[in-house]
Amino acid sequence: MKFSELANYFERLEATTKRNEMVALLAELFKSLTPQEIEKVAYLCQERLVPNYEKIEFGISEKLLAKSLAKALARDEEELWNLYKEVGDLGLLAQSYIGEGKDKLEVLEVYNRLMDIATTVGKGSIEKKTDKLAELLSLSSGKEAKYISRIVLGRLRLGIGDPTILDAFSYAYSGDKSLRPVIERAYNLCSDLGLVGFTLFSKGLEAIRDFKVQVGKPIRMALAERLPSAEEIISKIGKCSVEPKFDGFRCQIHKDGDRIKIFSRNLEDNTDMFPDLIEGARKQIDAESAIIEGEALAFNEEAQEFFPFQVTVQRKRKYEIETIMADLPLKLFAFDLLYVDGEDYTPRPYIERRERLKNLILPGNVIMIADSIITDNPKELNLFFENAIGSGLEGIVAKRLDAPYQAGARNFNWIKLKRSYKGELSDTVDLVIIGYYVGRGARAKFGIGSLLAGVYDPDTDAFKTVAKIGSGLTEDEWVKMKGLLDEIKVNSKPSRVISILEPDVWVEPKYVVEVRADEITRSPVHTAGKDGEELGYALRFPRVERFVRIDRRPEDATTVQEILEMYNMQRKIEVKE
Ligand code: ATP
Repeated sequence: MKFSELANYFERLEATTKRNEMVALLAELFKSLTPQEIEKVAYLCQERLVPNYEKIEFGISEKLLAKSLAKALARDEEELWNLYKEVGDLGLLAQSYIGEGKDKLEVLEVYNRLMDIATTVGKGSIEKKTDKLAELLSLSSGKEAKYISRIVLGRLRLGIGDPTILDAFSYAYSGDKSLRPVIERAYNLCSDLGLVGFTLFSKGLEAIRDFKVQVGKPIRMALAERLPSAEEIISKIGKCSVEPKFDGFRCQIHKDGDRIKIFSRNLEDNTDMFPDLIEGARKQIDAESAIIEGEALAFNEEAQEFFPFQVTVQRKRKYEIETIMADLPLKLFAFDLLYVDGEDYTPRPYIERRERLKNLILPGNVIMIADSIITDNPKELNLFFENAIGSGLEGIVAKRLDAPYQAGARNFNWIKLKRSYKGELSDTVDLVIIGYYVGRGARAKFGIGSLLAGVYDPDTDAFKTVAKIGSGLTEDEWVKMKGLLDEIKVNSKPSRVISILEPDVWVEPKYVVEVRADEITRSPVHTAGKDGEELGYALRFPRVERFVRIDRRPEDATTVQEILEMYNMQRKIEVKE
């Protein structure tokens, strides 16, 4: 396909906010592409060149783009920069100055050139990147240049999330969304939309049905549901395994010979941050290749105890790793096994995975197996829970004995039970910031007074509001928050946001904060759970408990469904009291 045709599709996608139309347009687009083009376009639609978990960034700032554009147009750089200041959008500027064009470029050629630009590193790379981008822009028509500019700046903002692409694959292949579950299963096993699209359209549906876990590609993590008591857990899943809930960060470790990769909860490649875990995995995983999961915690050698989360999280950094590693060595409590030496363990029951995990980990001082009990007695479960709390842990996770590892799913195969705070919701929620209000009163001087925040609705691939948050941040944090949000502010409501309230400033749904509240109430002004005339749901007295969570993508936020479940759970507790 010609890149100009793709640009036309981008333009049509940009013009609609209706998800059905978006899916239909994308399906039409995928139908007219080769499998290889589908792979690349699936990434490009999300301003990327590779799957989310791979780290390739363009490294192109507005200044650099303006420089390339000036070069392509043989105009003065400063003059162009001043024009940009007036227009406010380099993409539009590129379009109007380049004008009608030649439409020569193919999609794959543009992709390859963009890849070349993104992977140009080292000495003199800025100069080289600018030249290469200038060359690409000089080959483009105005419309093509507009979208190339937006892609390299990460400002395509078509509002296309993963579920929308998965639906479009299904429509393109079969004319309806019936294949979504099987396509999604493959996606959950590799987290790579391009690979899934390529496999479906080059090898067919059977290959997707047969899709297997691959070492090196992160598996979307299984998540836990909540229940308020040991009794309810036992009555829900019967005899189960109970493990401590460690408060560190989740790691999915992939071992392929001597090569180790470590993925975070939101599937980022964190390998470089954890040399100690890598060493541990090399020494202690007794297999040629394997994928295990566990929770990493910083260990205080002096006191021989684990540090709290606030300390552990300091290990998540990119610089001076050696120094911090010496102060805060990590240990990993392994709790699941997903793959060993050619064998996909995800379909196998928990109990079998755990047995194999125990044999797989050799004794050593980095990786340990989380201890557990198997019980169908609520009293025994409670005792284990109290012990866990007593030793400073968050609570417990109960696991259904016969459950497979369901990649990407949050369900009752795992149930978490945490300390409950009297009169408050027993759990915090993770909300996506979608806008802010400029401050009044004391906070007016910061220009930010409260946040409009929402939950994720995977069915419609949209963010729906649930709270206006005005507390929980220090003055410094408000200032920092405004800085972060101003970088991603947009002129109008983003297409994936559903909101009745209008904040003073809309932002791209990107940052997730952890929020505590007193309770969930019904509300006419919030859209989470709102169905036609029915009321939505809102958090009462919400406050930020943890500043922007770097381990969460917006789609990892609490879902509408979870809010409904927490609301029902709260009502049950009220009735009991
Ligand atoms: P929370 O915010 O409560 O930590 P979460 O949104 O990170 O929850 P949940 O699915 O709600 O994720 O809880 C499961 C998380 O608990 C896992 O992601 C993992 O990081 C952590 N965890 C700690 N100990 C265990 C364990 N023994 N088994 C499974 N997960 C565990």
